[in-house]
Amino acid sequence: MNVHESEKIAGILSKLGYGEAAEGEDADVVVFNTCCIRDNAERKAAGHIGMIKTEKKKNPSMIVAVVGCMTQQSGKAMALREKFPFIDIVLGTSNLAMLETYIPQVAASREKFVDIDENERPEVRENESFYRTSGTNAWLNIMYGCNNFCTYCIVPYVRGRERSRTKEAIKDEFMRLVDEGYPEITLLGQNVNSYGKDLYDGEYGFADLLEELAKTDGKRRIRFMTSHPKDFNRKLIDVIAEYPNICNNIHLPVQSGSNKILKLMNRHYTREYYLDTIAAIREKLPDCGITTDLMVGFPYEEESDFLDTMDIVEKVRYSNAFTFVYSMRNGTPAASMPQVDPEVAKDRIMRLIAKQNSITKELSKGYENKVFEVLCEDLSPSKTGFVCGRTDSGRLVTFPGDENLIGKFCDVRITRSQSASLFGETEV
Ligand code: SF4
Repeated sequence: MNVHESEKIAGILSKLGYGEAAEGEDADVVVFNTCCIRDNAERKAAGHIGMIKTEKKKNPSMIVAVVGCMTQQSGKAMALREKFPFIDIVLGTSNLAMLETYIPQVAASREKFVDIDENERPEVRENESFYRTSGTNAWLNIMYGCNNFCTYCIVPYVRGRERSRTKEAIKDEFMRLVDEGYPEITLLGQNVNSYGKDLYDGEYGFADLLEELAKTDGKRRIRFMTSHPKDFNRKLIDVIAEYPNICNNIHLPVQSGSNKILKLMNRHYTREYYLDTIAAIREKLPDCGITTDLMVGFPYEEESDFLDTMDIVEKVRYSNAFTFVYSMRNGTPAASMPQVDPEVAKDRIMRLIAKQNSITKELSKGYENKVFEVLCEDLSPSKTGFVCGRTDSGRLVTFPGDENLIGKFCDVRITRSQSASLFGETEV
């Protein structure tokens, strides 16, 4: 989501006539696209903003803007301006398009701007400019915001309530991406499964949208993220099973395997419900790569709750998992709950990572000596004369090749695996 938002920022700058600067200090405009989902991300952003002060001193005409969800937190915009008075523009999450207006004004008059929309349901803006940087994959927003209020999460406060783009606007953008030749398109939303609820009153949902897009002629892959388990329905599984161009790769964040913790997190499902959904996916999509997000150290988490999480990891056997220690976010309900000792949380995350790594390694072995269609995405960052790409199920494969293969679908025999990495040879 943030990468795509940076593409929108770069698109606006490009429209204004700016190009990429070789180094930070050469830049006429520096835009910080911030994230506040975790304390660490917010601290990093503040650190980077602080570091630009020296550059700005050397080049006083440099325009510095701060955007993204960090600015949308209550009182944060003004606090940022006080701490870093050299900032020229501060924009809230739904005011990004105003960069196009404010940058020329700052350049002309050195006036400063703070623009934060406090509305919970800001209007969805269309016709944004993009400067796409994601290679063979194009990101496509289908909706913004979230209604779920998980008790640890700051997103609904800083990104507002769910707003779906119209199906016509999405289909138009999808067709533009098809015309531009993207072999992979990823649909984005905080909870794609509730797409359309605000617009179509239950008459048209995510499965309908996905099916319509999958019917488009031509060879390509469609991915989507992120799904909320409570809204992931059987109709969607059927659509994925029916259309081979929809990837067999589902990211279904479970967060915890303990019913007590899931309730405290306000996740609206139980471990039993989640496991039933996984069973339904496995029945119709036996080769589906299922990934997840897992959190340890949530308030009130005891050893038995953690063992429930370890148990769900063993039962589902995720192909990969993003693992996190709970990060307290001010303004969320969980911030006022009793916190878990950081040393205990640290011990749990190490055990969880070790468990998931051993499962990933075992699953990787299962790929050996089989042939998979891989979309070649880029040159290998670590091996000269090699390229890398993904299987339909989302596994990264490295194989011999050069830039001529980028964007092409290749049949690759997996010759060996190493933890999460797969290595192979193209089949002739
Ligand atoms: S579903 Fe929960 S975790 Fe995901 S963005 Fe919404 S509130 Fe945050």
